[in-house]
Amino acid sequence: MATGQNRVWAIVVAAGRGIRAGGGVPKQWRSLAGARVLDHALAAFSGHPAIAGTLVVYHPDDAARLPAGVEAVRGAGTRAGSVLAGLEALQGRGVDIVLIHDAARPCVRPPLIDAVLDALDSADAAAPALAVTDALWTVDGTGTIAGTKRRDGLARAQTPQGFRYGVIVDAHRQARGDEADDVEVALAAGLDVAAVAGDEDNIKITRPGDFARAERILGTVDIRIGNGYDVHRFGPGDSVTLCGVKVPHDHGLQGHSDADVGMHALTDAIYGALAEGDIGRHFPPTDPIWKGADSAAFLSHAAELARARGYALANADITLVCERPKIGPLAGAMQDRLAGILGVEPGRISVKATTSERLGFTGREEGIATLATATLTKR
Ligand code: MG
Repeated sequence: MATGQNRVWAIVVAAGRGIRAGGGVPKQWRSLAGARVLDHALAAFSGHPAIAGTLVVYHPDDAARLPAGVEAVRGAGTRAGSVLAGLEALQGRGVDIVLIHDAARPCVRPPLIDAVLDALDSADAAAPALAVTDALWTVDGTGTIAGTKRRDGLARAQTPQGFRYGVIVDAHRQARGDEADDVEVALAAGLDVAAVAGDEDNIKITRPGDFARAERILGTVDIRIGNGYDVHRFGPGDSVTLCGVKVPHDHGLQGHSDADVGMHALTDAIYGALAEGDIGRHFPPTDPIWKGADSAAFLSHAAELARARGYALANADITLVCERPKIGPLAGAMQDRLAGILGVEPGRISVKATTSERLGFTGREEGIATLATATLTKR
């Protein structure tokens, strides 16, 4: 495989506005099998051992949707312009080989990436191609079949399309800008492009029905559920922080960090799903650095650990147990705050509350307890 001495980067092109697939947002940002379309594509490359780095090219309107910690560059008005922006961003990074992939192909699997890299051992450019097996027709404007086309020598194009970095940068700098893909850019520059066998499951999401098909292909092979439980005691103070939202109250919560009992329970649920212990293991309370800390740092760490292992957060459900303060009016803000930290849509996060009917320590308003459940999925 073209690994070893070669430094391979992947560029995932996510700058399109494609809304033909429905859902009101560009298809690369829609949910699919427990993650977003783009997240699936990214995971395939960032999890591949031969790939040193992954760069997302995004539309300026989508900056807020980017996953945390991902390297990204703004795209241009055309696909070719966007790819060139990605290529230029990799300049001077020692990149030998670049794989360019459409974000709308979330089902790409390691063997196809391997096949493209293998072909680049002996070629400057390589791309997956699929045979055309159906007969081909021309259909006129009235919906009438007007004729037939020979399918000999025709193939269907897929991505990732792989190139020696220097040659594709040069080719893109000479490109007209209206090319459909990078193979077209390469051919226009006179390059030979090796065809490797494509994968029928590596579909491009284009129409609404493609989501169901992609979900079937992706399947869900690994579902993990974790629970978390936390309690903090009331003490002097004039506010409490719950799920990242400061709530005025006639007491504060005591604890080493900001005592955000909601965020702690959720963080422990994510660690639990990963069999990674609890907050105390990762952020020892004996370490003075965490005194008064914003608990968002703990939640971000758990989310990053999950992401690094290829898991996406499918949903989380949090129940705060207290008589006061009243949570209901603030639950939406808490949901938004947690979703922002976790990089998921708010619809995947539930925040609710209950009293304990004045029974027990929560009933006597000695403290607040929280239960949380988190589901992580990996295909
Ligand atoms: Mg705690």
